[in-house]
Parts: sequence; C-alpha cells; structure tokens
Amino acid sequence: MAQPLSAAAVLTALRAEGVKVVEVGNWRTHNRNAKGAWGPVNGSMVHHTVTSGTSKTVGIVRDGYSSLPGPLCHGMIAKDGTVHMVGWGRTNHAGGGDPRVLEQVTAESFGSRPTPPTKGNTNGVDGNSRFYGWECENLGDGKDPWPGAQYDAIVRVQAAICRAHGWGARSVIGHLEWSSDKIDPRGISMPTLRADVAERLKHPANWSPGASTPSTPKPPPTAPPKETPTATTEKQINALHSNLLTIGSLTEIDGKGERVNHAAGYYLAHIEKDTTDLGVQLARIEKKLDALIATLAKS
Ligand SMILES: [Zn+2]
Repeated sequence: MAQPLSAAAVLTALRAEGVKVVEVGNWRTHNRNAKGAWGPVNGSMVHHTVTSGTSKTVGIVRDGYSSLPGPLCHGMIAKDGTVHMVGWGRTNHAGGGDPRVLEQVTAESFGSRPTPPTKGNTNGVDGNSRFYGWECENLGDGKDPWPGAQYDAIVRVQAAICRAHGWGARSVIGHLEWSSDKIDPRGISMPTLRADVAERLKHPANWSPGASTPSTPKPPPTAPPKETPTATTEKQINALHSNLLTIGSLTEIDGKGERVNHAAGYYLAHIEKDTTDLGVQLARIEKKLDALIATLAKS
C-alpha cells in the first residue's frame, strides 16, 4: 500500500530506468479523479490496446470513447518503445477485478501467477484506484508481434514503478490476471515478464542487459537442483500456457453492447460450476423420490 507517485516523480523514475518518454498535452492533470478514488496504489497493470498506429493509439488512450471516457491509462508504450504519458491520477484502465488477486498482489504472496480471477468488470472491486496502467500498442490478435524495443520498454517501465515504491516484480500483473473477462496483454507471458522485471531490479536503474556491471559481479554458476526447470524450460512452459489460455477464446457482446473476450478457462470454470449445481439438484430429487417411494410402500 502506498501513496501514488507524483507526475514529476514518475518522470524521474522512468528516465532513470532508461525509458524514452513523450509528454502528451496536459497529462499531469488529465485524469478521472472527479469520478472516484486514486490510491492507495498496490501495483501496476499491463494491457494491449487492440489498435495499430502510434499517433492514432495515443489519441484513443488519451481521449477514450463516448462509452469509456479517457484517459484509458497513464502511459502508452508504443511499438518503438517510446512511452507516451497521457494521464496522471485515476484513469479508466483496470475496471472491476477479483479482490483475491488484489490481496495477493498487495502481499506479493502468489507463485508464478495469482489465482485465476473469477470476478470481472461487472462484479469485481475497483482497480482504477489501485493500479498504475500501461497500455501497449498491439492488435491483441495473437499475431501482431511484440518488437524487442517495445518489450524492453515494458520491462523498464514496470521496474521503474516497482523500484520507486520498493516493490518486487509480483506487484506487476496483466489485465487478464485481474479480470475474468479480459485476455490482455495477449502474446506476453506475465511470469516471464515478472522474471525479467525481477532481474532488472537486481541491478541499478541504468542497467542495460548484456552490458557488464562491475558493481554487481556475477556469482559462480551452480548446478540447478533436481526437478527445478531451467530458465529456458520455464519460459517455454509459460509461452505454452499463455497460448493455451487464448485457444478457444470467444467473443461475446455483454449487456451494455460492449465486445468482451473470454478465454477458454472462463467457460471451463462456468461449466464446472454448472455441473456441480446439477449434481446438488440431482441429489435433492433423489432424496424426494426415495421419500415418495417410502410413502407409497406404506400406503
Ligand atoms: Zn486491458
């Protein structure tokens, strides 16, 4: 739990982390503070925009839509890695989400992933007051690539926020880990992203991966203990997992006429619940039937 950084403080943190920042208009005071709380903050959330073209994307995340007014995030991380700051304060990015996830992020108590969310936009708790939000320019179709410069900027931005607050990498989540009706950022493995943020946080803010850092000499390599997956295996498993999550992803139109994407797991969870409910109903019917047979036998 922490008070949100000031606009000046976030700029300092981002630039110290080697991020190229563009300030868009009156971003320091462009927010939704009149509509609700901003802070205390507990984490930072990564999204994809479902747009293409940087200037168009900056306009959308700054101004929003008639049904969803902007700003839609704090900063937009473009394909080339430039971060366009469009708002500061409460912004319309996280919507409703799972209170268990909020607890786990606040305590940084989860393993490689928080518990899959079972609450979303309509029935969850307010995330716009509790998370910094970063929209990343990507079509979200599972095909649009994530260029290296953009991914590197995503890692640096998350590390900058964590470093400024003294948080670990488990304070960073994807929108799909927060809300049961979201799939973003599609194509990015959040456990891998957190591992990369954690690695950055071991080094000074100006660290460039690959460059030698004499102040922090590497420890001698040690053999991994048995049954511990290597970093490569873990990356592969994480990539497979995020692919599996999006397989069978279906689009529905919700009550407000908004397009909502559900991952396959969302449906599986509902089917499981329906099956359990049916089992309970069946047991009740059986009980009544037994009673009825007993009554008939007596008469
Ligand atoms: Zn999102």
